[in-house]
Amino acid sequence: MRCLARYILNTLTALSLLLCVAAVVDRVLQRWHCHWIEVLGWRAEGSERVTRGVSLTTGHGVAILTYYAFAEDVGTPPPKGHVGYGAMPDVNWKMADTRLGRAGFGVDVFRVVKGQGTRASWVMMRNLEAPNWFLAALFGVVPVARLVRVRARRRRAAQGGCARCGYDLRATPDRCPECGTVPGVCASRAVPAAGQRPAPGAPVTPWTR
Ligand SMILES: [Zn+2]
Repeated sequence: MRCLARYILNTLTALSLLLCVAAVVDRVLQRWHCHWIEVLGWRAEGSERVTRGVSLTTGHGVAILTYYAFAEDVGTPPPKGHVGYGAMPDVNWKMADTRLGRAGFGVDVFRVVKGQGTRASWVMMRNLEAPNWFLAALFGVVPVARLVRVRARRRRAAQGGCARCGYDLRATPDRCPECGTVPGVCASRAVPAAGQRPAPGAPVTPWTR
């Protein structure tokens, strides 16, 4: 169970790190272009075809997650595909003229009914906006916390203590009497501490497999 929990935690950490790096790389690439990526689908509802999608647009140091929907006459050609992405020289969006809005944060919902310049009978958008620096910091918290924790565990183990609670394991290297941790069971690649190495001819312990 603990191994499964660690596996999930490691996966989340890797994902978080990936998103953190993506936020930084995207911010650098924004010097040249704004970017967008979207996933969408559509279906006929009466005489209209309703298209719904989720998109991520980034530019000017801000990332905008959008959920949108719009309705068109079923006779109009459908969107080109279910996934779209690309770069564009600029995006035209309005951030709220508030302190948070000017800093790049925002939540807005709007619905346009039969607007000019669109064939849609209605358009709905919900936007969630946050600056890249904020996203990088947010997604960086988990990897940094994990790194600090792993280093602390390694240091405790290297000192002959339980990796989890630090209890001195020199007398009981197979199992921590304080918290029940069995050294090396989940961290098979971790280097066992000197006091935990099995003597030649000793029964095989998990970390030697
Ligand atoms: Zn312990």
